[in-house]
Amino acid sequence: MSKFLINKYQSLEAYVPGEQPKDMEYVKLNTNESPFPPSQGVLDRISSAEVSKLNLYPDPDCKVLRKKIAELYGFESENVFISNGSDEILSFAFMAFCSEEKGAVFPNISYGFYKVYGDLYGVDYTEAPLKEDFTIDVNDYLNINKTVVIANPNAPTGLSLSVDEIEKIVKSNPDNVVLIDEAYVDFGGKSCIELVKKYENLLVVRTYSKSRSMAGARLGYAFGSKSLIDDLNRIKYSTNPYNINRLTLAAGEAAIDDNDYYMNRCKEIVEIREYSKRRLSELGFDYLDSDTNFIFAKSDKIIGEDYYRRLKENGVLVRHFSNPLISGYVRITVGTREQMDKLFEVTEKLLK
Ligand SMILES: *Cc1c(COP(=O)(O)O)cnc(C)c1O
Repeated sequence: MSKFLINKYQSLEAYVPGEQPKDMEYVKLNTNESPFPPSQGVLDRISSAEVSKLNLYPDPDCKVLRKKIAELYGFESENVFISNGSDEILSFAFMAFCSEEKGAVFPNISYGFYKVYGDLYGVDYTEAPLKEDFTIDVNDYLNINKTVVIANPNAPTGLSLSVDEIEKIVKSNPDNVVLIDEAYVDFGGKSCIELVKKYENLLVVRTYSKSRSMAGARLGYAFGSKSLIDDLNRIKYSTNPYNINRLTLAAGEAAIDDNDYYMNRCKEIVEIREYSKRRLSELGFDYLDSDTNFIFAKSDKIIGEDYYRRLKENGVLVRHFSNPLISGYVRITVGTREQMDKLFEVTEKLLK
């Protein structure tokens, strides 16, 4: 820390991304990326002709991409917001809709960035405890004078609320924004985007990082009422109007044209997930019933941290969280069948 950092940031605990070690080739099952490459249409779009236009600023309105996303999901362009990864929408939303006066509430076990943004923007937030079975208690979010932030399906548990439960939360908080983070919804969760047409206080956030094989491109999008999207634009145009670079915009458009490719890849991931659950059961693991591209699992035979560490020594990376409530578990991203078989092979060896 330099002597120049102003006081309010001196105790800020930054988000710690999943490790991306370069010391050897790992089977990488730790950051919920897709194991599959982007579609051919995306590869073709990032041509040297596209690259040669990098001297020009990209379209700050992301008009073409917004229209494509709107059409795919049955919205108007004015209901769509595009961002540099969905983390940026979360950041803008915390800035726009949360403060010391307008607090926030999110689950005590969820995506770690919510807390970081809460701290960064001086938000008076509360972390609502999950129930014993790691499900969200809807009652914690009804009729409260706070902005609600919920990942659905939740991470790292992989468990979902139903659309009815989400609607109950949205309906009971007409004076608060309810932000539903659907980062993993394409892997079998039930989306609540249709509710956006009915409730002006609902913002649904999505990402290209998981189901659209584009974590490296940094692209996120959100659906909301025109007024909520206008609010996000006010923040965006006050921080970084050209927040999506030209190549990412082009890739994002091509990916929407190739939607079937991605939805088929998601189906494949779901099949490998179900296969992996069976294998984990055979190895004596317990796991939560995931709606996502990861499995939250634990074994009585090896504690989470040891399992994580010994897997890493054997060239397989998974994610372990030190939070005592979940430190017995590891979060395993669903990779290719070959990657998963490598995980099970090493696991078998470790448990012997
Ligand atoms: C991965 C993830 C994000 C962030 O995605 P980016 O678009 O890569 O910034 C947001 N929310 C949840 C719950 C995630 O798991």
